[in-house]
Amino acid sequence: MKPRLFTPGPTPVPEETLLELAKPVTYHRSAESKAILAEMTEDLKYVFQTANPVLTLTASGTGGMDAAINTAIAPGEKVILLTAGRWGERWKNILKVYGANAVVVEVPYGQVVTPAMLETALAANPDAVAVCATLSETSTGVGHDLEAFGKLVAKTNAILIVDGISGLGAMECRVDAWHLDIVVTGSQKALMLPPGLAFVSVSDKAWKKIEAVAPRSFYLDLRRYKKAILESDTPFTPANTLIKAQRLSLKRIRAEGIENLWARHAKMAAACRAAVAAMGLELFPVRPNSGLTVIKVPAGVDGSAVLKKMEKTHGYKLADGQDAMKGTIWRLSHMGYTDAFDVLGAVAALELILLEVGFPVTPGVGVTAFQKAMAA
Ligand SMILES: *Cc1c(COP(=O)(O)O)cnc(C)c1O
Repeated sequence: MKPRLFTPGPTPVPEETLLELAKPVTYHRSAESKAILAEMTEDLKYVFQTANPVLTLTASGTGGMDAAINTAIAPGEKVILLTAGRWGERWKNILKVYGANAVVVEVPYGQVVTPAMLETALAANPDAVAVCATLSETSTGVGHDLEAFGKLVAKTNAILIVDGISGLGAMECRVDAWHLDIVVTGSQKALMLPPGLAFVSVSDKAWKKIEAVAPRSFYLDLRRYKKAILESDTPFTPANTLIKAQRLSLKRIRAEGIENLWARHAKMAAACRAAVAAMGLELFPVRPNSGLTVIKVPAGVDGSAVLKKMEKTHGYKLADGQDAMKGTIWRLSHMGYTDAFDVLGAVAALELILLEVGFPVTPGVGVTAFQKAMAA
């Protein structure tokens, strides 16, 4: 059986990156290591579309989210939290641990927080020091309009803190032009690396806000990472093997061009949505993003059983819904090192399994719709 990974993190890793991971371990304080970190940081700035240094933490994406809150928000400060799913809830839980006063703007799973909702919340809470948002809500497949959010928050004294994990590198996101003050991502989503690194960009406006906040974490204090990166270094021993490999995956993005990459993901996502509709299935998110397609499990079908069969019979590993969503949606990732023909295979396998469980679908209808959308 050939394993095929279609989960929205971790995602497949290119061959040259995997080979780099197999090389002998090197010392992290050497001139060569610093040059590699500097080069990777430059390429991250390109992917983030920012002129500010991007900080590298040895942590999963949540470590970057934790660092953003503990470094930038003092206890008791008011933060507007926009949540549309499980990852918005992760912001909420981190804010709670650090004693922030969260004003929650919440929409049901599958829905999207609109710019109008944020505008109302900002007007009602002029004392808010920050807004926390999610670019790609990976639990439901919605994408948020961060460009509009950025315009609204830029007019205030608040900073905009964004969970860009799974969105950044898959859908359009221009950190500086859109006024996104702190943006976090993880290596295992669209950046084509195994899990282990978190990346955080911080604007000048955010650094000014941070000055007045007392440190509350030793390891996850962004000030330490900023001081070190100015010397092309890290404050603690980094996962330098991963940094060397990340550099190679980022070269791929450089070679393709970030705008071409966004357009390619958008086209693949549109083709995938066309296949879903042709198979007689429905999408779950009202505003789907380009990194993953989230499909409603049709009535009478055991969603979790279908995913198990897909994996057991054809090697395709898609993700189930999380927590209360389990069995109700299928999440198919097409971010990072996944191309249209990989997704086409997943569509074909889903058709066969749907037939097997008795859902009426004519083999080839999804594949045909996908191909037509790619040809358009
Ligand atoms: C995957 C993901 C996370 C969690 O990241 P970890 O690396 O598991 O800590 C957070 N937010 C979003 C939007 C994600 O997709």
